[in-house]
Amino acid sequence: MNNNCPWCGSEKAQINLWLKDEFLTKEDFHICECLNCGLLYTMPRPSKDKIGEYYKSEEYYSHQENKKGFIPKVYEAVKKVNLKHKYRLATDGIKEGKLLDIGCGVGDFLHTAEEHGWECTGVEPSDEAKAIARRRIKAEIIASADLEQIPDATFDVITMWHVLEHVDNLKWQMEQLQRLIKNNGRIVIAVPNYKSYDGQYYKELWAAYDVPRHLNHFSKQTITKIFASVGLKLTRTEKLVWDAYYISYMSEQYKHHSLPLIKGALRGLVSNCKARRSGEWSSMVYIFEKKR
Ligand SMILES: [Zn+2]
Repeated sequence: MNNNCPWCGSEKAQINLWLKDEFLTKEDFHICECLNCGLLYTMPRPSKDKIGEYYKSEEYYSHQENKKGFIPKVYEAVKKVNLKHKYRLATDGIKEGKLLDIGCGVGDFLHTAEEHGWECTGVEPSDEAKAIARRRIKAEIIASADLEQIPDATFDVITMWHVLEHVDNLKWQMEQLQRLIKNNGRIVIAVPNYKSYDGQYYKELWAAYDVPRHLNHFSKQTITKIFASVGLKLTRTEKLVWDAYYISYMSEQYKHHSLPLIKGALRGLVSNCKARRSGEWSSMVYIFEKKR
């Protein structure tokens, strides 16, 4: 793995932050800013055969089912509301058709889409998550590399819910998105936003840097530029308001101070209030379309 920018390949970068894998290994990493295209990326990047080790945790929520305790319960309840919201964002104004969810986890979003009549395909690297998804939903669940076998212009909607920040081959991923979406199709990308108030406040302890699981860190400017360069136009931005609370709560835990739940809730609230003016939400949803 080289040290160049994962998008433009430039070697010119500055180090913006030194930080640790607070979530799991406590290993040291840093965030580079590409001086050519502006993308922020994690260094050093774990090799393909090592990356799996950073996901090995009981607490990695997105792959879990049937959790006990207060926070997991709240998380589950919020997830249900969030799923409806996400479904609306992805499909509003489009007649049902073919939908691809990249990084589908245990299949929560695809389950919702299938209930509404969408013909679904999922991509998921984790064998564990894939096995659960296959029990729950009809959708074919494939490996990322299998996308290359799918014909051009297959999908009406492609979604990546907090996935593009994990992708270790951004250029290849962008080629596939550009190729697989139909003309006038919709691509929905949810990613953390380090320009949000909580991102700027917690700095190296901001839980949504989540190194080295997150390899790419996007702002509205960089993601818009990257998608535009492959002919995908930003048509709308949306927000996921609950993420400000969850990320702030996790960040407070990393500070090892008292009352992380209360402090996190307050900080999340401040973040959401500020974002009403600035538009810089803790988690952004970007909606792109391929226009001829
Ligand atoms: Zn770059």
